[in-house]
Amino acid sequence: ACDIDQHDFAAILDAIHDEVRQRLGEGRQADYIKALAEVSLDGFGMALVLRDGRVFEVGSARHRFTIQSISKVHTLTLALDAVGDALWERVDREPSGDAFNSLIQLEYEKGIPRNPFMNAGALVVADVVLSSCSDARSRLLAFMRARSGNPGVACDEDVARSEAETGHRNLALAHFIKSYGNLHNPVEDVLDFYYHQCALSMDCVDLARSMQYLAGNGHCSVSGEQVVSGELATRINAMMMTAGTYDAAGDFAFYVGLPAKSGVGGGIVAVVPHVLSLCVWYPGLDDKGNSLLGRYALHRFSRMTGLSVF
Ligand code: GLU
Repeated sequence: ACDIDQHDFAAILDAIHDEVRQRLGEGRQADYIKALAEVSLDGFGMALVLRDGRVFEVGSARHRFTIQSISKVHTLTLALDAVGDALWERVDREPSGDAFNSLIQLEYEKGIPRNPFMNAGALVVADVVLSSCSDARSRLLAFMRARSGNPGVACDEDVARSEAETGHRNLALAHFIKSYGNLHNPVEDVLDFYYHQCALSMDCVDLARSMQYLAGNGHCSVSGEQVVSGELATRINAMMMTAGTYDAAGDFAFYVGLPAKSGVGGGIVAVVPHVLSLCVWYPGLDDKGNSLLGRYALHRFSRMTGLSVF
């Protein structure tokens, strides 16, 4: 651990906010659904939660957005909790270097997705969660509410519906995986769950809190529960480091040096193991699909604090 009180987090967040304010408007919204394409690029938020529960926040940290691929961390946690290491017979854990929704590797790897954070892997993870309980959507919702301490966390049904209407590639991925026997539930059920996990609507404070168990050896400071073992938390962090930011994970390790997971809604969560969890939001994306100013803010944060797993 480190002496966190040497850092003036309020001042650091203010300084980052001042810097990014000059750059609002950069990047491009995800445009595959209307709800994301129409978000304006004049909001930026950042929130940080220490292990003792103290919260620091700046800008639009209470603005809700759909968490999209960030949800893959939470569903991975539920899947590992349900089946343990048996998950790795169905999903690999190597970084991909290809786009998040790529079909290419699936063919020569015979329906075994490269990692749980690509869409293909997340669909297999969703399938595992579906098989492990009678109502996966409620299970995930309860998990998110408990982790964030916010009983108001809910799914944006409009977004879930538009994801389904435009999700041709995810449908193709799911059928392709199913053709190798690596989905056990009906494709429609897997996609329904997947679109609902992507459409969960949360703010930076909720999301930073939701990652506390990964900053605390599996212990969630929000609910006081041991969510997973310390070993599992370490491994989920490792996977975020190698595959959490699409095909820019190398760049993230280089510039930010923290396990992180991004989503096309503009959110990025990051973890300083044993110390804190944080979340940034800015909906303008870079060409890899990561929040452009979110990535910059995390880079500045790790530079200013010296906090990095390296
Ligand atoms: N719902 C999006 C999709 O499956 C999630 C994309 C993302 O955040 O990476 O295409």
